[in-house]
Amino acid sequence: MDDCLFCKIASGEITTDLVYETESVLVFRDINPQAPLHVLVIPRKHISTANDVTAADAGLVGEMVLAAQQVAAAEGYAESGYRLVMNCNADAGQTVFHIHLHLLAGRSLTWPPG
Ligand code: 5GP
Ligand code: ZN
Repeated sequence: MDDCLFCKIASGEITTDLVYETESVLVFRDINPQAPLHVLVIPRKHISTANDVTAADAGLVGEMVLAAQQVAAAEGYAESGYRLVMNCNADAGQTVFHIHLHLLAGRSLTWPPG
């Protein structure tokens, strides 16, 4: 997708603070962190929203969770805990339409979210 911010990050056209990558996913620090650890896990493949994930993407979405798990452990938050969030469309506040998992950790997170 020519006009997608996260596709530009995946292609290297826009540089970012990369913390982990595999053949299919990238993890980089959020530009506006909401917790001591706030990174975004994205697939290299463009998928606009959670609504657009298909059965063929099931492995890829699993790889996103595994990447988040790796980073949470590497940053020392596996035992204290962390939150994984994927916002979908307006009511959830999705602003970038290339799916991403937020990985948040390092403070006590409230529930329910706002
Ligand atoms: P959403 O609201 O779509 O779930 O989350 C989008 C996230 O992307 C936000 O947390 C926002 O701070 C982050 N973000 C937006 N633009 C950029 C950028 O250019 N670089 C990085 N690293 N994060 C971004
Ligand atoms: Zn994209």
